[in-house]
Amino acid sequence: MPGTATQILNRVFGYTDFRGQQADIIEHVLSGSDALVLMPTGGGKSLCYQVPAMVADGMAIVVSPLIALMRDQVQALHQLGVNAAFLNSSLTSYDQARVIAQAQAGDLDMLYVAPERLLSPDTLDALSACEINLIAIDEAHCVSSWGHDFRQDYLELHRLREYFPGVPRLALTATADPRTRKDIIARLELTQPKAFVSGFDRPNICYSVQPKTDPRSQLLTFLGEHTQQAGIVYCLSRKSVDATAEWLRSKGFRALPYHAGLDTAVRTANQDRFLREDGLIMVATIAFGMGIDKPDVRFVVHMDLPKSIEAYYQETGRAGRDGEPAEAWMVYGLQDVVRLSRMAEESQGSEEHKRIERSKLDALLGWCEVTTCRRAHLLEYFGETDSARCGNCDICLIPPITYDATVAAQKALSCVYRTGQRFGAGHVIDVLRGQRRDKVVNNHHDQLSTFGIGEDVSDAQWRSIFRQLVVRGFLWVDHDRYGGLRLSERSRAVLRGEASVHLRQETLSATKKSAAAKKKAPEALRPADIPLFEELKALRKQLADSANLPPYVVFHDSTLLAMVDQRPLTCDQFLLLPGVGEAKLEKYGDDFMDLLAAYAER
Ligand code: ADP
Ligand code: ZN
Repeated sequence: MPGTATQILNRVFGYTDFRGQQADIIEHVLSGSDALVLMPTGGGKSLCYQVPAMVADGMAIVVSPLIALMRDQVQALHQLGVNAAFLNSSLTSYDQARVIAQAQAGDLDMLYVAPERLLSPDTLDALSACEINLIAIDEAHCVSSWGHDFRQDYLELHRLREYFPGVPRLALTATADPRTRKDIIARLELTQPKAFVSGFDRPNICYSVQPKTDPRSQLLTFLGEHTQQAGIVYCLSRKSVDATAEWLRSKGFRALPYHAGLDTAVRTANQDRFLREDGLIMVATIAFGMGIDKPDVRFVVHMDLPKSIEAYYQETGRAGRDGEPAEAWMVYGLQDVVRLSRMAEESQGSEEHKRIERSKLDALLGWCEVTTCRRAHLLEYFGETDSARCGNCDICLIPPITYDATVAAQKALSCVYRTGQRFGAGHVIDVLRGQRRDKVVNNHHDQLSTFGIGEDVSDAQWRSIFRQLVVRGFLWVDHDRYGGLRLSERSRAVLRGEASVHLRQETLSATKKSAAAKKKAPEALRPADIPLFEELKALRKQLADSANLPPYVVFHDSTLLAMVDQRPLTCDQFLLLPGVGEAKLEKYGDDFMDLLAAYAER
């Protein structure tokens, strides 16, 4: 490793050590070879090309699909005193010409560019006169139609090999399965690339899943533990996004809606506020998130089940990019199970495709109901098998209690049978609980031997039992017959008394504390330090606003937390803070040290 790489890490980025495989990747690229880098979100992919771009003579080209993200990255680099620029359709032709002139004069270390722009004859022509030291291809999975973000423009990127012969190419992605990896290497025509694959784990994210009993009050309790924090609340439909955002505002939260049905101007404004203001909640459909690089998202909530474990992992991955503690919190109920299984059934495409959809759904549902470490199961799904108990998921923090539910299961299954295997859980539960509703009486279900045999069990508990019976394969939902529940082969042994059923005992109170809140966070501020932290945040916001930047581009929370801890009063001390390099010391050092000094006097 050339000393200069570490010096740049230190002086420019303000960090002392490379993380994980960063140093190896940088060394590999500087030796002139191609590579594929697979690193989870927040793992630190950007440094893998930013550092070599600055170490070697010339300029790096960074291919990125997302225009908004380009601007953010370039802004952040300017804050670090790095000469970077971007080229895309959002620039006027005057500005584009200016950027090209800068590149040709050798004034840039990095040029961010969208794929279609890079491959246009004009751009290629203009760049052929420049010294290019590296081509980084970000979000490289977009080249694969197997992945979920396929982009036609990426398919042409293999041409870069001819245009820039001998320039090392670095493909980066957080999306991982082996097939996508192969696609990336083949379609970009990387030359004998070395693959750097990091683990998938996001250790700072605490995962929890709760049964959906009273979703709004459950959400309220959860948010009560996260006041003043930025987070995303995912809902399935546009309607529920609007309603939930409205309702949260009525409860005093600062919440904004985001979905594809909103006016583009409103959507952009809301996204902008989410990035720039501290502690906003974005209530959104999954239309929101792609290309959101906000490092301090403290929680991601799912009010409805996502489509698959892959989708869940990608959506929750937007939390805690800065490495500070974050939460992925989800509620789910029988309704979600029914809805998603119907969607899998009705999805367009071949039988094979449907089979894949069903098995993805089964994997997700199975994961919701696990009784051992949730993280270990997630990682296993992505092929990492030997994970130990994590100590940072709901199951590790509050181990679930299972109980022998054979008798309740027999009652439930026989009631499904007696009512003709034509009804959903709601009706069957009414019969079990002896509710003389119209539908029950009209079908003469009050005459059945199973009428009222489950009176002693609450509606919510029955729902939990039915959900688990479906997920565990004792019942299945017949979508050809209006979603009626039907017995499976497995359930016959239970009805005959030959097999027992063990289910999870759920604490069905909406006021249950979230798993992460139960965990004593050693990273948390001491109460006495909160006022100082708030003052530092206010100063950061003020400086960010006057420079028209999001606050996290000035400093990450982790830098402010280190300030609280170390109280630096000299430039040398200030430089020791993580995330403080020479440019940031010069830009912001005095303001923050003045505040710290004034605080110490009080
Ligand atoms: P990715 O693109 O892989 O999602 P980023 O490159 O945005 O991740 O990095 C995630 C966070 O980690 C950023 O806040 C970055 O400043 C920080 N980071 C990256 N490398 C290091 C390092 N060597 N030391 C400390 N922090 C780092
Ligand atoms: Zn765990």
